[in-house]
Amino acid sequence: MIIYGWNNKTIKQAPLENMACDNCQEQNLFLTIYSKYVHIFWIPLFPFKKSALMHCGHCQKATEEKQMTPDFKEKIKQLKNSVSTPKYLYSGLIIIVLAIGYFSFAGSQAKKMEQAFLEEPMEGDIYKNIDKTEETTYKYYLWKVAKVENDSVFVSPSSYSYDGIPTKLEPEDGFYNFSYAIHKNELRDMYEKGEVKKILRDYDGESTGFNRVVAYPSPVTTDSIQ
Ligand SMILES: [Zn+2]
Repeated sequence: MIIYGWNNKTIKQAPLENMACDNCQEQNLFLTIYSKYVHIFWIPLFPFKKSALMHCGHCQKATEEKQMTPDFKEKIKQLKNSVSTPKYLYSGLIIIVLAIGYFSFAGSQAKKMEQAFLEEPMEGDIYKNIDKTEETTYKYYLWKVAKVENDSVFVSPSSYSYDGIPTKLEPEDGFYNFSYAIHKNELRDMYEKGEVKKILRDYDGESTGFNRVVAYPSPVTTDSIQ
């Protein structure tokens, strides 16, 4: 649940000289200028409006801006323009901008690394792929590079398909103990087309199960049917 709303922050408070309260006639008036701001989880996101409130220190009568005379309103408007909004009322916005910047930087670094992996495939690289022609939700499958010979990359397929990009294999799954050749250019094409979603190197083979090898079920032969 995202908690958000708006709040007020006093940005300036000053006594009003030579002015009497229209209620008690005392010269004890204060003007408060505050900024309304939007917050998200109580972190100020951005300010959106400055308002003024006149307040009598003697009888406590408060006068909102809309109740003030046009002349006085004009004066207040100038005053409001002269006080600046504290920068921290933009904290949330700054955090969001920095976070977006960070994630897009991290994303572009990850892309650069994957480009390098595509240029120089290595034994053990994991390719996380999507089969867009698969009609069920189990569209995701993995390849593990078994060996590289010139421009041929030999890959072993994962024994199972997944309904999301897997970060680890199910306990009973692994990579089959056979491989077939894919041309380096084809891998690059698949990456460009988004059929290769992610490429991993230097992963934890134990906890992910990416080191697990499973035997391909031997085909049923006429001999075994007898
Ligand atoms: Zn008063």
